[in-house]
Amino acid sequence: MSEITLGILGGGQLGSMLSVAAKKLNVKTVVYCENEDAPAQNFCDDFIHAKYNDKNKIYDFAKKVDVITYEFENIPFQTLNELNKLKSVLPKPSINRLVQHRLAEKDFINKLNIRTTRYVQVKGKEDLLPLADFLPGILKTTTMGYDGKGQHPIKNIEEINSLKIDFNKEYILEKLVKLKKEISVIITRFDNNKYEIYEPIENIHENQILRHSKITAEINEKIFDQSKEWAIMIANELKYIGTLCIEFFIDRNDNLYVNEIAPRVHNSGHLTITAFNVSQFENHIRAVCSLEKVAVKKLHDAEMINIIGDQIIQFRKNVKFNNNQFFFDYLKKDIKEKRKMGHLTTLK
Ligand code: ADP
Ligand code: MG
Repeated sequence: MSEITLGILGGGQLGSMLSVAAKKLNVKTVVYCENEDAPAQNFCDDFIHAKYNDKNKIYDFAKKVDVITYEFENIPFQTLNELNKLKSVLPKPSINRLVQHRLAEKDFINKLNIRTTRYVQVKGKEDLLPLADFLPGILKTTTMGYDGKGQHPIKNIEEINSLKIDFNKEYILEKLVKLKKEISVIITRFDNNKYEIYEPIENIHENQILRHSKITAEINEKIFDQSKEWAIMIANELKYIGTLCIEFFIDRNDNLYVNEIAPRVHNSGHLTITAFNVSQFENHIRAVCSLEKVAVKKLHDAEMINIIGDQIIQFRKNVKFNNNQFFFDYLKKDIKEKRKMGHLTTLK
C-alpha cells in the first residue's frame, strides 16, 4: 500500500479525474484551488480553498503533501517556484513557464527542428501593419489562453484598424493553417527515462473548443509515426515527468505541425479512462509519485463528446446509456455557455 499524499493545484474536472485515479492507487490527494465551488473537492481527500498567492495557505498545503502537481498551466510561476522549495513540484515549474508562454514554446519546438505554424511576436497595433503575409491569422495572447480565450482571428489588413484589443498584454500572430484534421498525442514520461505513449487521437474543435475525440484516428502511417516521434522528442528534451499532451495540426497537403504543448493531462485523453488498461490520469499519478510503470494497452476503439453549457441538462435528466457508454458529470455548480460540463465516452 502506498502512503503517498499528492497535492494538486487546480480543482477543475482534470483535478477530479486525477483524484479518482489516485484513489485507485491508494494515493491520497489534497486539492488547492482558488474557486470555492471547485468540482474536484467532491473527489479528493482534502480541499484547500485559497488564492494562489496566499503564502500561508501555500505553506500549509506543502506541509500536508509529499509531492505536488498541477491540473492546468495557468498557475503563477511564483507559486510553483515557492512550492518547489518545500516539496518537489512535477512537472518542474520551469517547464510550465516555458510551455505556457506561446512565444517561448514555439521557439523551443522550432529549435528541435519540429514544424509549428508561422508566428511572430506582436507588441502593439502598429506591429501588425507590415504583417499581411501572416494573414489570415489568429492573434493570441502569449499567456493565460485556453479554450480559445484571448484569441482574435484577423482576416485582412483592413480589419486591423477596427480591432478592439488590449495591447497591455503581449501577443503572437499566427498564420492560419488550412486544416484537414487535428490530432493529439499523449505521453507519460517517468524519471528513469522511460515513457508510455498513447496512439494519436483525432479531435474536432468548434469555435476553438474541443467537441469530439476518437481513436483510431483516420491518418496515414507517416503522420501516425511522426506525431509520436515528435511527442517523444519533446518529452525527452524537457526531461518531463508526468503526462504531457501535444496538439497537432494536419494541413490539406498532409503536413504535420505542432500546435501547442499542454504540460498536463488533456481533454482529448478522457477516452483513455475506459479505452485503455491505464488512463492518462493514472499514468500521471504513477509518474509523479514514482510508482511502477505499466505498459499501456488499448482495450477498445472509442469516441468521446464534450458536453458543453446547457447540453448537460438533458444528460443529467436522463437517460438510459448503453453499457458501452460512460457519462461523466463534472458536478459544476453553475452552467455557463461554452463551459465544459461533462463528457460521454462510447466504446466501439
Ligand atoms: P487554446 O490554448 O485555447 O487551446 P489553441 O492555440 O490550441 O488555443 O487554439 C484552439 C483551436 O483554435 C485549435 O485547436 C484550432 O482548432 C484553432 N486554431 C488555433 N490556431 C490556429 C491556426 N494557426 N490555424 C488554424 N486553426 C487554429
Ligand atoms: Mg489548444
